Amino acid sequence: MDVTFYGVRGSTPCDCREQERYGGNTSCVALEAPGETPIIFDLGTGLRYFGTGQPTDGTFTGAVLLSHLHWDHVQGLPFFVPIDRPGARLDVYGPEQEDGPLGEVFTGIMRPPYFPVTPYELRGSIDFHDCGDSEFEIDGRRITSRWVRHNGPTLGYRVDWNGHSVAYIPDHGPGTVPDDADDHVPRRIHELCDGVDLLIHDAQYSIEEYEQKRHFGHCTIQYAVHVARECGVRTLALFHHDPYHDDATLDELLGVARSAAGSSVEVIAAHEGLVISFASSAHAEIPSAAAQAAGGGVRG
Ligand SMILES: [Zn+2]
Ligand SMILES: [Zn+2]
Repeated sequence: MDVTFYGVRGSTPCDCREQERYGGNTSCVALEAPGETPIIFDLGTGLRYFGTGQPTDGTFTGAVLLSHLHWDHVQGLPFFVPIDRPGARLDVYGPEQEDGPLGEVFTGIMRPPYFPVTPYELRGSIDFHDCGDSEFEIDGRRITSRWVRHNGPTLGYRVDWNGHSVAYIPDHGPGTVPDDADDHVPRRIHELCDGVDLLIHDAQYSIEEYEQKRHFGHCTIQYAVHVARECGVRTLALFHHDPYHDDATLDELLGVARSAAGSSVEVIAAHEGLVISFASSAHAEIPSAAAQAAGGGVRG
């Protein structure tokens, strides 16, 4: 199973020389194994690059675990060519909404005059599935979804397969609930993260930035490390990088996170093209995150 990062940026896509090493596309991470349905975390602008490696002859099938409906997590769908082919199929699991079924609410942001067609007018078929605190299976892989603290209904996910596990919590805002201390790790976060091999977690702010933006629904690098330590995570991938952080700043923040983590958690900063591979057998030794630059199609 390969975990490939196609978009790692939070809030809004960016494109400039100072950010090209980490990349400017918004949230999209794919879990892929030969012969299995790919699982895609979020539909940010990175989805277009995932699409360049997928079949465009109508045979594409995939499952999306959508965290929430903010722009930076949905804007890639209109440009995902593999689903615009007769016969292609995409199942989108995402947070249930107060205003109606997920598919209906999603169509509210992808329809004229905002975009020429709705999801249902793409030539493949898209099915939306409403989730909350849920457990379900995709192709034999166990999926856990839990509500997490952010602005608006937002889910985090955990995927367990073959003795390996990945948790994905791209947007997570400690302090957004008045009674929660900034270092509180909710029960639901434990349920998602306890003992996972890889945690992909919001790491948007330094402490100074967080003090100015504590109600934006994001957290500090230090909080991401705190969650990883509390939950016994093996590798933490800092994710949802702030659009105002250039490559040099992210290098510095990674250093801060590594000092905070000590030897208990391996910390990496996600960048476009990063691939983390897990051995396919449950009996194989669980790898330390074998990070390597991906070839072709993705900016690394
Ligand atoms: Zn976001
Ligand atoms: Zn958000």
